[in-house]
Amino acid sequence: MMNDTDRSTFTCSPEALIDNLPGLVYCARVDEYWTMEHVSAGSLDLTGYQPQELLHNSVTHFEELIHPDDRTSVRHQVMEALAQGRRFHVEYRVRHRNGQYRWVSERGAAFHTDHPGAGLLVAGHIQDATTKKEAEAVYREAERRYRSIFENTIEGIYQSTPDGRFVTANPAMARMFGYDSPEHFTAGIGGIDHEFYVERTRRADFLRLIEKDGQVRDFESQAYRRDRSIIWISENARAVKDANGTLLFYEGTVEDITERKLQETVAHYQATHDALTGLLNRTALTSRLMDALERRQPHEYVAVLYVDLDQFKYVNDSLGHHMGDQYLRIVASRLSACLREGDSVARQGGDEFIVLLQGLGSSGEVEQLAHSILNSVSQPWRINDVDIQATCSIGISIAPSDALDADTMLRHADAAMFRAKALGRNNYRHFTANLGNKAFDRLEWSARLRNALTRGEFMLHYQPKIEVLTGRIVGAEALLRWHTADGENISPADFIPLAEEVGLIVPIGEWVLREACRMNRSWQNAGYRPIPVAVNISAIQLERADLVEKVIGILEDTSLTPHYLELEITESALMSDVDQSISTLERLRRVGVRSAIDDFGTGYSSLAHLKRFAVDTLKIDRSFICNITRDRGNISIVQAIISLAHTLGLTVVAEGVETPEEYRLLSARGCDQIQGFYSGRPMPSEALAEKLRAQR
Ligand code: C2E
Ligand code: MG
Ligand code: MG
Repeated sequence: MMNDTDRSTFTCSPEALIDNLPGLVYCARVDEYWTMEHVSAGSLDLTGYQPQELLHNSVTHFEELIHPDDRTSVRHQVMEALAQGRRFHVEYRVRHRNGQYRWVSERGAAFHTDHPGAGLLVAGHIQDATTKKEAEAVYREAERRYRSIFENTIEGIYQSTPDGRFVTANPAMARMFGYDSPEHFTAGIGGIDHEFYVERTRRADFLRLIEKDGQVRDFESQAYRRDRSIIWISENARAVKDANGTLLFYEGTVEDITERKLQETVAHYQATHDALTGLLNRTALTSRLMDALERRQPHEYVAVLYVDLDQFKYVNDSLGHHMGDQYLRIVASRLSACLREGDSVARQGGDEFIVLLQGLGSSGEVEQLAHSILNSVSQPWRINDVDIQATCSIGISIAPSDALDADTMLRHADAAMFRAKALGRNNYRHFTANLGNKAFDRLEWSARLRNALTRGEFMLHYQPKIEVLTGRIVGAEALLRWHTADGENISPADFIPLAEEVGLIVPIGEWVLREACRMNRSWQNAGYRPIPVAVNISAIQLERADLVEKVIGILEDTSLTPHYLELEITESALMSDVDQSISTLERLRRVGVRSAIDDFGTGYSSLAHLKRFAVDTLKIDRSFICNITRDRGNISIVQAIISLAHTLGLTVVAEGVETPEEYRLLSARGCDQIQGFYSGRPMPSEALAEKLRAQR
């Protein structure tokens, strides 16, 4: 605080004051050279020249120190201000004596003096403005960079009012939404009450999140573009508030993630669907099954149906993979067509499909569906003017009775399907607890069958064929029997399809051929009247290129005359590759081996095909015989088959003849031979030998 004493000692001239000011204070004439009439001491600092050197322009004109680029503009601005009687403020660059330029800021005004002849004077104060200019440059650069980002980034940037109107947007934002400029965007989407989000609740979600946290992160939604097309966007936004916490606006960035979403969708589809048929895959179905089991109400049933095509291998092998694929697609669409809303079907792989039924009111509904699947899949499928007909076998397991978890349900349905196959195919089977005990999976079956072969658990029974006219045994069919180590007798109807399935039918079939030939040779050696022995050949054996060579080898090994061996081949096996069947049968005939069409009438061969096959015998399937005495329709069919076979020179055998009535009826219709319980059940070889001996 200054006191009076201090004030009395304080002396200061105006010149000293001015000389102490930073910068250059001057007074100059407004003439051609701005002749300096007064220059303050600060000139040395600012320009490197002593005041005297500038005074009266003795060493240099001050104007010469102004950057040439700024000179005209400075003079112009000053003159203009003076003309208008205003103070002036100019900024320009001044060259220091050391050659370097620096920015200065000059303020001044006209200066009136009574001095005669002085003319118009100006007085001004020039100050160093380098720091300010640098700060401005930094600011401008930041601004430029920000602009550049705002204008050129591929992310959309926006500001929107709390009520959801877009007030600022960058070009990317406009482009993203189909507008040619940010102005059009804010006037379009922002200006009217436009629906922005596709999902109506999305805006509320956005507000809820931003209110809670002050920001949203990676907020993904679908949004409408100008043309109403839809894109996926991801937003990051924050609420901008004033010092009092009042919400001013939201600002955020928007990324167009449509492509990523698309890729995700495709990837998800691929991960959950089967590429060939477009059905779900097993993984996806399993997860649906788990959901269904979880959501199941106490009074509801959930069912799994394992559907396995019966003849897919033949379709694939005989018509080619391309057709095989087409066939799978047809089956897929047929299965889908059988389903109710809410049911699912998956391709498990190969020719296996899984159907999931949920929300069932009764387990009976499952059977209805199984029926319609069997029916639909077995509809003929016309390709290259040939009708292909294939069937499927279905295994069913139901929750809650059979299982409660997805894994067990699938396993049980698979086991039941295996059983359905074993029981003759083209049918469905429920899982049963009993089946559960026997329901080995494929690996176990395969191991058991292989062991059966090596451990000698197989044996052959022989069923006589009787000549109708004489009642004599004129042949015998070898039928495979499996006595397992644990005392079970498993029927060939059960295990032959399994052996086919696990690829063991070829070695098993060879064993049967060899054993039957060996046995027949030993009967002949014993002196019984020679009869042919019939051996069943599986479709898989038939399609092997080396079948005929195998047969020849076995005949040689067992020294059996070819004529005493007959191969029984089912109608459907013959039809799976007609051309190959024709050639195989022809080769067998040349060798001298007989052949028979087995189970005739159950497959889909047309009668026209019959004459192309070099067969000797036609065996009418048991299903036509079993009610022949009651069903007149069946009598006509059997009669027609017998007549046709005879015109083709074939011997006719009726299978499954059980009663004297059937025998008489068939005899009256001209049937050549009968085979069935009436004439004798399949029996061990010694028993048949006994009969042959009796006939001698
Ligand atoms: P398949 O070739 O049609 O054999 C006739 C089947 O009918 C035999 O059943 C036989 O026991 C049964 N059968 C015979 N007469 C009567 C009758 O009067 N009434 C009734 N209800 N049934 C009768 P099996 O032995 O159970 O054989 C079933 C099928 O298993 C055979 O049908 C054949 O397709 C197949 N099979 C049997 N052995 C072999 C074999 O060694 N290899 C191949 N690939 N298949 C075989
Ligand atoms: Mg047979
Ligand atoms: Mg048969």
